[in-house]
Amino acid sequence: MAEVLVYVDHVDGAVRKPTLELLTLARRIGEPVAVALGPGAGDTAAVLAEHGAVRVLTAEAPEFADYLVVPKVDALQAAYEAVTPAAVLVPSSAEAKEIAARLAVRVGSGIITDAIDLESGDEGPVATQSVFAAAFTTRSRITRGTPVITVKPNSAPVEPAPAAGAVEPLAVTFGAAATGTKVVSRTPRESSGRPELTEAAIVVSGGRGVNGSENFSVIEALADSLGAAVGASRAAVDAGWYPHSHQVGQTGKSVSPQLYIASGISGAIQHRAGMQTSKTIVAINKDAEAPIFDLVDYGVVGDLFQVVPQLTEEITTRKG
Ligand SMILES: Cc1cc2nc3c(=O)[nH]c(=O)nc-3n(C[C@H](O)[C@H](O)[C@H](O)COP(=O)(O)OP(=O)(O)OC[C@H]3O[C@@H](n4cnc5c(N)ncnc54)[C@H](O)[C@@H]3O)c2cc1C
Repeated sequence: MAEVLVYVDHVDGAVRKPTLELLTLARRIGEPVAVALGPGAGDTAAVLAEHGAVRVLTAEAPEFADYLVVPKVDALQAAYEAVTPAAVLVPSSAEAKEIAARLAVRVGSGIITDAIDLESGDEGPVATQSVFAAAFTTRSRITRGTPVITVKPNSAPVEPAPAAGAVEPLAVTFGAAATGTKVVSRTPRESSGRPELTEAAIVVSGGRGVNGSENFSVIEALADSLGAAVGASRAAVDAGWYPHSHQVGQTGKSVSPQLYIASGISGAIQHRAGMQTSKTIVAINKDAEAPIFDLVDYGVVGDLFQVVPQLTEEITTRKG
C-alpha cells in the first residue's frame, strides 16, 4: 500500500490534536508515515502509533528550534525523498502551511490549503474546501507532482488505529538557507487554561455587542462551562476589550470547531471568513435582521446579557 507522509505538529513531544486528525485522513489514502522534528520528536511515537502511523521518522537537531521554518522544510523534503509518498498531509497552522508551500515549490508539486475533508480517488486524493464565506464548496485534485495538502483542524475525527509506529532516525542535511533566520528569544504565552483557539472543538466568541472588556467575563463563563476557547470579532479586539490573538476572521485566526457560538457579532463577511466552516453555528443577537442569522444553524434573537448567562447556568446544571 502507498505511504502517506504526515507532518507532526507537537510541543516538546506532546502531539497536537490536528495531527491525529490527519492520521485518520491519511489512512483513507494509504499507510501513514509520520515525520516528527525538533525537541521531543522521539516522544511522539507512542501516540502516533496508536493512531495509525506505521513508521515515525524523527530528527531532533537543534536547528529546528533555533531557526525559522527552513530546517523543517529541509527535513520534510528529506523524508519525502526517502519515502516517495502518495501524498503529503500537513496541518493548516500558519507555520505548517509555510512549510508545506515551500516543500511543494521545491518538489514541483501542486498544493491545496485549508482542506476540510479528504477522500481517496482513482487519480489521487480529492480535497474538499469551503470558500467565499462558505458560499461554495469545492472538490479538487492535484494534477501535478505528489499532492501536498494542508487540512484545517477539526476536519476529521481522532480514531484509534494501532499500528507499528517504528521509530526511524531521519538523516537531514541542512542547506545554506536553513540558518538564515535565527530565533533570538521566546516568551511563552500566559496560559488561560482554555484550549487553543484554532484547535478547540467549541469556540464562544464575543463582538461589539459585548460592549466592554469587563463584560467579556460573560463570554468566558459560557466558554468555561463548555470547555471552549474564547474568540472575538475585530471590532471587539480593536476596542481593546480582548487580546488581538483571539480575533477570528479574515485578518485574524481561522477556526473550524464542531460548535461556534457568536454573541453580539453582526456577521460581517470578514468575520465569516474565519469561522464559516464551523460544523454547527449558533448566534445570539438582539437584531433579528443581523446578517449572521443567514449563516446559523440556531439563532437566538435577544440580549446577550440575558441569554448567555442563562445558557451558562443551564449547561452547568446539566453537567451536574
Ligand atoms: C480588510 C478588513 C479585514 C477585516 N478583518 C476582520 C476579521 O478578521 N475579523 C472580524 O471580526 N472583522 C474583521 N473586519 C471588520 C468587519 O468588517 C466588521 O467591522 C466586524 O467584524 C464587526 O464586528 P462586530 O460584529 O463585533 O460588530 P458590529 O458589526 O458592530 O455588530 C455588533 C452586533 O452586536 C449586536 N448587539 C449589540 N448589543 C447586543 C446585545 N446586548 N445583545 C445581543 N446582540 C447585541 C448588534 O445587533 C450587532 O449585530 C475586517 C474589515 C476589513 C475592512
